[in-house]
Formats: sequence, C-alpha cells, structure tokens
Amino acid sequence: MLASMTFPLLPRSALAAAVLAAAALPAALPTAGWAAPADGSGATSATAAPSSKASAADSRFQRLAHDYIEALWALDPEAAVAAGRYEFAGKLNIPNDATRARQLSFAQQWLKRFEAVKAESLGPAARTDLGQLLNKLRADRFALTEMREFEWNPANVNVAGQLDLILSTDYAPLPQRLRALSSRLALVPAYYQAGEASLRQPTLEHTQLAIDQAPGVLSVLDEIGKALDDDKAKGFSTAQRQQLSERLAAARAAVLHWREALTTRLASLKASGDARSFRLGQALYAKKFGFDIQSAHSAEQMYQKALAAREELLARMDGLADQLWQKTQADAPKPADRFAKIGAVIDTLSAQHVKREDFVKEIRAQIPQLERWIVSHDLLTMDASKPLMVRETPVYQRGVAGAGIEAPGPYRPQDRTYYNVTPLDDLSDAQAESTLREYNHWILQILNIHEAVPGHYTQLVHANKSPSLVKALFGNGAMVEGWAVYGERMMLESGYGDNAPEMWLMYSKWNLRSVTNTILDYSVHVLGMTEDQALDLLMRQAFQTEREAKEKWRRVQLTSVQLTSYFSGYADIMELREQRRKALGDQFRLKDFHEEFLSYGSAPVHVIAELMGQRR
Ligand code: ZN
Ligand code: ZN
Repeated sequence: MLASMTFPLLPRSALAAAVLAAAALPAALPTAGWAAPADGSGATSATAAPSSKASAADSRFQRLAHDYIEALWALDPEAAVAAGRYEFAGKLNIPNDATRARQLSFAQQWLKRFEAVKAESLGPAARTDLGQLLNKLRADRFALTEMREFEWNPANVNVAGQLDLILSTDYAPLPQRLRALSSRLALVPAYYQAGEASLRQPTLEHTQLAIDQAPGVLSVLDEIGKALDDDKAKGFSTAQRQQLSERLAAARAAVLHWREALTTRLASLKASGDARSFRLGQALYAKKFGFDIQSAHSAEQMYQKALAAREELLARMDGLADQLWQKTQADAPKPADRFAKIGAVIDTLSAQHVKREDFVKEIRAQIPQLERWIVSHDLLTMDASKPLMVRETPVYQRGVAGAGIEAPGPYRPQDRTYYNVTPLDDLSDAQAESTLREYNHWILQILNIHEAVPGHYTQLVHANKSPSLVKALFGNGAMVEGWAVYGERMMLESGYGDNAPEMWLMYSKWNLRSVTNTILDYSVHVLGMTEDQALDLLMRQAFQTEREAKEKWRRVQLTSVQLTSYFSGYADIMELREQRRKALGDQFRLKDFHEEFLSYGSAPVHVIAELMGQRR
C-alpha cells in the first residue's frame, strides 16, 4: 500500500478500535468506511449510484474509475487486501526498484487518462470523485518520487498487519485462508531483502520502531502455525502443512536477519551521526499537507489559525475556571497563572466519572439520547433503519484500550457498523482510574458525539446515501475527522449539556487537544520544536497527562501531517458554515447546511464549498 501506516502491527480494524476519538492513531478508518446502501442491494457502481438522469459523461467516467480501481488491485495486492479484496491475499509486492518503477508508470498513465476527463461535463458526485482520483494519483507519484519513505522509514517494511488480517478475517474457510497465507509467506524472505536493500539513510526513530516491531511480526507467524491445529483446518493436507511450516521457518529467519541488520545499522548511524532527521522539513511538509489535507489553506496558514484558536480557547477556559473556582476549590487561593488555575479546576472535575464496570453500559445508554437530541433540535435527519450496534471490542482486536467505529469496507456492504468499546477489565486499578478520569462524566459524552452521533457514524450513514466507491476508498480524512470535531461544537452550541460551565470547560480541553495537535505537528516537523518544548506545550499548556504527552511526542516523531487533520478539517468546516450563514442571511437553516454538506460524501471541504455555490 502506498499510504503508509506507522503502526502496522495491528489489523486495520484494531487500529480503528484503538482510536480514542481525537487521539486517533494514523488510520482514519471512517474514510474507508461504508454502510449498506438504503436499498440493501450492496454496492456495485464505481461512483454514485446511477440515477436515471446520469449523463453519458458521468457513465463514461464511472467505467473509467471502475477500470482504474480493478487495475490498482491487480498492481497492488496489499492495497487490495486493505480494501477487503481478499482474492489477492496470496500475493505480495516485493518493495524493490522494479516494483516502484511499475507503480510510478501506472500512476502516470492513469493520471493522463483522468486529466483528459472534462470536469465541467460531470455531475457533482462524479466531479468530486474525479477530484479525489486525481489527488490520489498525484499523491502516489509524490510518494514514489519525492517522499521516498522506502529510503528512510524501515517501519513500513512489515508483513504482520496483513498476515494477521488474512488469518483473522472470516472471508473464506480456514484451509483456503491458510493456502493464501502460504503463498504470501513464500515471498516474505525476498520482501525483507528488498526492504533492506532500499534503505539509504534511515532515521534513528523509524529504525528503532522497526526493531521494536520484530517480535510482533514473529508472534503473528506463531499464530499462523497454531492455526494448523484448529479443528477448522482439517481440510488442509499433510503436504500443504509441510510446505507452510517450511515457509514459516524461512519467514522467521528473514525477520530475525532483518532485525539484526537494523540493529547493526542503528549502532553505526548513532556513531556516525549520519541518520536522517525524523523532521520532514518545510518543503516536504507543505506538499504532503496539500495532498493529505486538501484544504484551501496552506500548512503555514493552518498553523497560524491554530495559534489563534488556541488563544481564544485559553481565554474562554480562563473565564470558566474563574466561574467554577469556588464551587470546585472552596477557599483555596487562586493562582495567578492561568494554566495552573485552569488545570486545578479540570483536575477536580475529572473525579466525576462512571464506575469502571459501567463504562460500556453508559456508552450504550447514551447513543439513543444523542439521537433524540439531534432530532428534537432539528439538527439533522437520523436514519432509524441503520441502528448502530454498540459492542465490546472483540478480544482479537484489543491491544489498545479505547473506543471507535468499525465500519465494513466497501466490498462488504452486508456487514454491520459497530461501535467497539474496550471494557476496562484488563487494566490495573490505577490505569482504570486514569482512563476514567480522562473519560470523565463530560468527556465521555463528547467522545460519543465524536465517534457516533452526530460524528463518524452519522457522517457515514449520510455519505452512503450517494454511495461512492471512490470516496469510500480514497476519501478525504480531514473532512471525516473535521466533521466529527465540528459535531462536538455544534452539539454544545445547540444547548446540549445545558450550557453548564463544566461542560464547556471540558469541551474546551478536548478541543484544545485537536488544536494543539496541529501546532505540535507543524512546530516539530517545520520549526524544529524540541522534546522539552513539546512536552511543556502538551502537559502544562494543554492539560494532558504525562503518559498522553509522551505518547504524542512519539507519534509526532513517527508520523507527519496526520495529526493536523482534526483541526484542519474542523477549521475549514466552521469557516464554510459562517460564510454560508452570511451569504444566505435569513434563509440559512442549520439543518439544511448539515444535510447538504454531508450529501457530497467524504470530499475535501473546499470542494464541497464550491459545490455549495461558494467561491473562495
Ligand atoms: Zn475521529
Ligand atoms: Zn475516580
């Protein structure tokens, strides 16, 4: 897959489950999500469901998009499996120069064909699909020619995530899955050799991560070996077992060699000081931001917007802390420093939370309450035929505590959408208490707003009213995350939480996290922010725990641009809403704005703005 994941040890679904709302790991699964179309027929067309009025140009474009997607799966089996096309499970691309040359010429050829399509001749759904395809192809070209992560990020060389996905997804009987795994495993030694040969100047951080990931890869190989003992593996012949075991042994040796080679490399990079910096630098950051966020604003402008938003939030929190001081701190002297004052109030309020055994139950109870609020306040239509199923995260997907939406991929429209919540059973008392304080009485409600209603789940249901395979596969992550963050604010503006100062203060802390993510990402990758400065920004100035701050520091070293998607999408949506309000005057209706905004699917906000008749 060209889109890189920095933590590829977990299957895709587990990455989604690991999403703690705005603290998401770099896998915006809802982008790839897809709920069954209203007629239950399953998704088939490449773009919008053809209406009777679909023009000839739209149909021609749809055929072209369909041909491209099928050709892409044939070229890139890992992308195919990630999208749910398991008939490619037995293949694996060897990450060498020859493969990359093929991928580049493929991207260039398809780019020419899509650039020849006249956008003006297309309806809105096809036109936004065309925009997403052009952006994807240009982003692929950029990844192969300029980003060139294969030269510096060994953590992308990892077979575990997809092997685990193939093993644990029930897409076919186990013997068939084992045959696919066996074919794929045969290619693993060549895969790691090519990965090693491609490295030019790795960073210390990604090299260390790749070394740390090796035991996880070995454990997935062990799991495959254990699956042979499963009753369901009975149809797998003795000869096939023998072959699979030999391939597992060779794969294991390849991973051990890879780890050893990286360990040697890391030591010599440390000694010579020749490692590449994990900081992306201004030029690459600006370009990557352009492809991934697709905002009408530049990365630098977005950073400036985040700085302003931060000041506004802190001023508001300062006032709220004054308001809540006596109620929460009684006669304690009020610190002059606003961070100390706000932090003290947040700390006291955080003690109000559910009991650990009620965590899942409380989330389940809140979803219908949120839906009733949306309907009674005329904010959006809700589709009662697509209820969200709240469930405990399946055990094999756990690994990181949290909650998140798991939507079926575009090729499995018959599957349900789940809200996975990991119960706190496995945590120590201290860990559970820390998690419960973080997801306290107020923040837990905001989490549910973000993940479910009217956040990710509701957005998916609306997007699928005009199902688009292109946008389900290559949709804009900043729009998806931005909508969920926007939903939080919109709910509070509608009076949800009774306008209580406690609710607004906790909301502000939560929102400050998204804002700070943008500031941190830009500051670290472009402006050279140090670790000490970053930890101070996160802990003292954004009221995060040391654990959260340290995890964030690690994440910003290993990823770039993903952290900025939450605030960037949110800021663009807020700006669009206020422009529409101004342009429409008395005619502006919040519900109409929401419905129209969501009707275009997961397209970039500036594209939706154009379609809404707004020029910027
Ligand atoms: Zn989210
Ligand atoms: Zn407590």
